[in-house]
Amino acid sequence: MQVSIYLLKGEYFMPDTEIITERIKNLRALIEYHSNAYYNADAPEIEDDEYDALMRELRELEQQYPELRDENSPTVKVGGSASSKFASVEHAVTMQSLRDVFSMEEVEQFCRDFEGAEFVVEKKIDGLSVSLEYTQGVLTRGSTRGDGRVGEDITENLMTIASIPHRITTDAQFLEVRGEVYMPRRTFAGLNQSQEENGLKTFKNPRNAAAGSLRQKDASITASRGLDIFVFNVQQARGIEFESHSQSLEYLAACGFPVSPEFTVASGYEEVAAAIEKIGAQRGALEYDIDGAVIKINSLSLRESAGVTSKFPKWAVAFKYPPEQKQTVLRDIEITVGRTGVLTPTGVFDPVMLAGTSVSRASLHNQDYITQKDIRIGDTVVLRKAGEIIPEVVSVAAHGDGEPYMLPEVCPSCGEKVFRLEDEAALRCLNPDCPAQLLRNIIHFASRDAMDIEGMGPAVIEQLISTEKIKSPADIYSLTEEDVASLERMGRKSARNLIAAIERSKSNDLYKLIFALGIRHIGESASRLLAGRFGSMQALTEASAGSFASIDGFGDIMAEAVVDFFSTTHARELIRRLADCGVNMTAQNGGEDTSSNKLDGLTFVITGTLEGMTRDEAKALILANGGKASGSVSKKTSYLLAGENPGSKLTKAEELGVKVISLDGLYAMLEEN
Ligand code: NAD
Repeated sequence: MQVSIYLLKGEYFMPDTEIITERIKNLRALIEYHSNAYYNADAPEIEDDEYDALMRELRELEQQYPELRDENSPTVKVGGSASSKFASVEHAVTMQSLRDVFSMEEVEQFCRDFEGAEFVVEKKIDGLSVSLEYTQGVLTRGSTRGDGRVGEDITENLMTIASIPHRITTDAQFLEVRGEVYMPRRTFAGLNQSQEENGLKTFKNPRNAAAGSLRQKDASITASRGLDIFVFNVQQARGIEFESHSQSLEYLAACGFPVSPEFTVASGYEEVAAAIEKIGAQRGALEYDIDGAVIKINSLSLRESAGVTSKFPKWAVAFKYPPEQKQTVLRDIEITVGRTGVLTPTGVFDPVMLAGTSVSRASLHNQDYITQKDIRIGDTVVLRKAGEIIPEVVSVAAHGDGEPYMLPEVCPSCGEKVFRLEDEAALRCLNPDCPAQLLRNIIHFASRDAMDIEGMGPAVIEQLISTEKIKSPADIYSLTEEDVASLERMGRKSARNLIAAIERSKSNDLYKLIFALGIRHIGESASRLLAGRFGSMQALTEASAGSFASIDGFGDIMAEAVVDFFSTTHARELIRRLADCGVNMTAQNGGEDTSSNKLDGLTFVITGTLEGMTRDEAKALILANGGKASGSVSKKTSYLLAGENPGSKLTKAEELGVKVISLDGLYAMLEEN
């Protein structure tokens, strides 16, 4: 039966153990990779339901083929690990995970397994699991879950969360409480807005924002992030005893903890199901994200006899709600033009409520996406929020009377013909004077990693462009305090600060300026390499394609992009004007400080799509730090640097026991050694 499911997917042609072994290996490697991105780098690359599907497939296969089980499989280990950034904490009581169930039949089965028992149904808060230890009522230590047995000491960071009591009145000589730290939805929206305005990386969802904010070396950053907590379990108590879980929750509430909100005590499946349904109906409208409901046995002695597995307790399950989907009508498709001239189609819909907010727009990505789903204006479409955050079109439910949709052949901003470049899904406007690109270009130019002009966010730039005070990045350097003070919501003092920030940016190192120019394929690290190799803007603008060959790892595509960029009069004119305004055109530290021997003796293979960096750039970074880059995985490979959709190299690496790391892992190696 199960095998025929896989047959349908077209992945397996027969129930051959070799193929199954291969698939299991593949799944384990994929899950390990995504677990690392999620738990350790706080930067997931796939949606939770996709991850859950991989895990479910692996679990089913391991159940069907017990001979292929492995004690190191992600199905038997708690995901995550403790990073060396923090001191480690050994958990006296293991911080376990929960067994996921995805259907009400499985919930019913769970209730039937414990016939006659009382259950507690709670919201499953989507955050980061932590332990809080109180000695004689005083908060003495706080830690993350880590791998369940060893976590990270983040006491100082947890102390900054206002709702965590530092002192409680209790008869317990020692009390360990487990809870979930989360970021309220509103705080998350505000944080991402300010990250964007300051040109910083935005977070994918409130869970990652919470995890990233809590695992900071500098606790004052944690303090500024508006985190909160709900506690949901007593892990250990010396000096007091509880008979039931609900009793312990009430005790914690009386001690002043924010406790698992509106938990329900339920007898039997019917009451459990009603509680799950109630939580499901509230799910979108809550102030915080939840990713399910947890059903736990209430009696602590019954829990004891139910026992645990290596990964989760047998006395609880987590019910995962299916992603909420709604139908609506697609009224229009709007086209925006980005910094690099990419045309992005956005669907405009009749507003629908989805996961707590009204949704009326969703990206339709590119022509291929639209054609594959055959999305037409006037269609009734099914919408959902991927990861409960980003709205997307799942499918077309019914066509209206619209024709198949084609993106325009000319740029909606400047009217020039648009092109689809080789190997790209996107259409691009290649006109360097296109006004829509100007806005994006200047936002990039002023952003933190580029010229780092504090106070020059999108709102200010938009006004400067619409009042024609700037038409090119070079115009920024001719702005006066009066020009800036005349903008809306801009006081004298802010105007003065902005002009000072512009002035300061003139002395940035050359690599920041190179990055600010927004040359295709040239990210921050490639900009550093260029600054190091050429030393001055003059030398760079005059470089021939051949002169890039001496930069280790600098690929042909990157070299070509640089030469093409500087061959235009537009670019040369821009550089001349910037130089006239006094913008620094030479490398202060040369390239020396970007290179090191930290990766000496290590060989890397790069696969998949890396976030914010091309593979060529990653290769250049590795080479610049003394490492070697190779095209294929072998026993000699030290690390596989894997991005999204890693493919067969990942399987090979797993087979050979080669360590797999993400880009964040590489950065960590460069920082740590
Ligand atoms: P889990 O998140 O499914 O369940 C265990 C956690 O639930 C505990 O750590 C606990 O802190 C928390 N929790 C919240 N409220 C609770 C309550 N009221 N009672 C008890 N526990 C409560 O398990 P997990 O193993 O940490 O992670 C699996 C989850 O992480 C899945 O949802 C999975 O989709 C996601 N994940 C996603 C990716 C990705 O790449 N997108 C990667 C790894 C994991």
